[in-house]
Amino acid sequence: MPGGKAAGVRCVQLTGEYLCALHGTSAKPAVCNGLKPMPEMCGADRGQALDYLDRLERETAPGE
Ligand code: SF4
Repeated sequence: MPGGKAAGVRCVQLTGEYLCALHGTSAKPAVCNGLKPMPEMCGADRGQALDYLDRLERETAPGE
């Protein structure tokens, strides 16, 4: 995404099936390729994974 993906914004490369449209291509951002999923990130279900992501975004948001 031009300028990067802002917190809370759905990536434009995420398909309707929650798959990365850039997976397996050289266009996939390095930060995405470098992400190593861990059980604590995924939780037991999609809701827990989204809660974790939301917390990460809040904790790494630029200060005011
Ligand atoms: S892996 Fe990266 S490029 Fe692909 S959908 Fe997720 S955030 Fe977007």
